[in-house]
Amino acid sequence: MPTEPETTLFGRIARREIPAQIVFQDEDITAFRDVNPAAPVHILIIPNKTIRTLNDATQEDERLLGKIMLTAQRLASELGIADSGYRIVMNCNHDGGQSVYHLHFHLLGGRRLTWPPG
Ligand code: 5GP
Repeated sequence: MPTEPETTLFGRIARREIPAQIVFQDEDITAFRDVNPAAPVHILIIPNKTIRTLNDATQEDERLLGKIMLTAQRLASELGIADSGYRIVMNCNHDGGQSVYHLHFHLLGGRRLTWPPG
């Protein structure tokens, strides 16, 4: 769990200080349902430790980022969207549409998603 002084909203969810529908958690990662889902399946997958944006990830986080991708793959299967299809989105900074400054990956599925994004 994050121990950094700068604990974010999502860090507080990982620490279970704020309620969320957590679908998976281990020592490195927490996955929980988005409070305002944009698709029938909308899960947020975060590192437990504070990384504000993808720009702040370092070589040390290489394994962690790979683990997040494989967790997304597994959750997609468990939630029944692996075969129908899904999208993983990571918004970085203002122009990317990031609103919560704790690195997170959206796992979206359960409907046909359009492209390109707005
Ligand atoms: P971003 O725009 O930063 O890529 O995505 C932030 C996401 O976090 C949004 O989809 C938003 O609905 C979700 N979100 C914001 N606050 C909370 C919260 O307190 N709990 C949960 N479960 N999701 C949140």
